[in-house]
Amino acid sequence: MFDYLIVGAGFAGSVMAERLASQMDASVLLIDRRPHIGGNAYDFYNEAGILVHRYGPHIFHTNSKRVFDYLTRFTAWRPYEHRVQASVDGQLVPIPINLDTLNKLYGLNMTCRQVEDFLTSVAEPRSPIMTSEDVVVSRVGRELYEKFFRNYTRKQWGLDPSELDASVTLRVPVRTSRDDRYFTDQYQAMPLHGYTRMFERMLDHPNIRIMLNTEFRDVREEVSFTNVIFTGKIDEYFDYCLGKLPYRSLRFEHQTHNSKRFQPAAVVNYPNEHAYTRVTEFKYLTGQQHASTSVVFEYPCSEGDPYYPIPQPQNAELYRQYKTMAEFTPNVHFAGRLGTYKYYNMDQVVAQALKLYQTITERADHPLLLTDRAVDQEEMRDRSAA
Ligand SMILES: Cc1cc2nc3c(=O)[nH]c(=O)nc-3n(C[C@H](O)[C@H](O)[C@H](O)COP(=O)(O)OP(=O)(O)OC[C@H]3O[C@@H](n4cnc5c(N)ncnc54)[C@H](O)[C@@H]3O)c2cc1C
Repeated sequence: MFDYLIVGAGFAGSVMAERLASQMDASVLLIDRRPHIGGNAYDFYNEAGILVHRYGPHIFHTNSKRVFDYLTRFTAWRPYEHRVQASVDGQLVPIPINLDTLNKLYGLNMTCRQVEDFLTSVAEPRSPIMTSEDVVVSRVGRELYEKFFRNYTRKQWGLDPSELDASVTLRVPVRTSRDDRYFTDQYQAMPLHGYTRMFERMLDHPNIRIMLNTEFRDVREEVSFTNVIFTGKIDEYFDYCLGKLPYRSLRFEHQTHNSKRFQPAAVVNYPNEHAYTRVTEFKYLTGQQHASTSVVFEYPCSEGDPYYPIPQPQNAELYRQYKTMAEFTPNVHFAGRLGTYKYYNMDQVVAQALKLYQTITERADHPLLLTDRAVDQEEMRDRSAA
């Protein structure tokens, strides 16, 4: 009999397993249908001996000291600030759009102040801001929207930005300075020996048993357990009884080249040409020295592994209905990107799991019998107290 059956060995499931085993002395069975731990953050040395990320580039960045300190127990870090270029009008320019992007694109020599004035002059005010198109056009105008955002978004999501929630492009900043970093978070680093090594250390505990290549449905009747932490798709847990929550997927094409460098930046985005959206060269991320180099091309598609919850009002509503069912399912908690149908970065998933763990342990009456409704109520109390 296990205290907890945890479904999914990505960040959400692994943090929960580590906390429950090491802090509550709970016995944990951690399963994953994939042949490895680490979820989408899984990395491995390929046949050429180069460390690559199987499911596309994963760059760690956070403003949460708590999350960073927590992960630091399991890994040393390599400082890394991510930089991306976009192929636009036949040249490579920095993205997010900044002073140098605009000067290079238009052959100008503007100052920060002039760029501010330029952006104000091309921006098309929109009110209310409802869609991704509204967000971008109201900040940088139609021409830059067309050059950098429109087609990229259409490839990535299979939808026009006018059909997508504002939240999708709100994540992309526009700068009038020369700061060409992709992220500006306080902590930006890569696990020194890779993500998988970090997960191995996290899960190295006698109370944690790991079963890979294992489906939840195959063990739910076979194994006895008291509680479930489910980090797979919430609609799958309920046998899609209300319908399927849609996801956007990706096809990854990995290549190794017999040269030291493939491209001039860690990631090059292709907003307008090609079926792929971007190409990542892993050695920039990992700092590995090697005579060859490995890259991955990302082709967005609708079929395949579920990667991106599609942010549209009807999907949010369907998720809300599943969440209500979850709230009345005792002893089962839903966590992570798939369990809560939200586009979360790794640090956000870690924060969510630490919060769930804290709520479970703080329940004075009976921590092993807690519904997600109780977790939500506690979160609401925390928020109103803050
Ligand atoms: C292409 C791409 C790039 C990304 N880049 C970044 C980045 O640069 N920085 C960043 O912070 N975040 C990035 N992310 C987000 C990051 O991948 C997620 O935040 C994180 O992996 C979510 O962890 P998770 O545990 O919620 O889900 P996952 O990592 O998806 O883990 C869930 C696990 O559950 C397993 N599972 C599901 N259902 C079942 C079942 N029924 N039975 C058994 N096992 C099951 C799955 O096999 C999976 O391994 C990126 C995501 C993608 C797709």
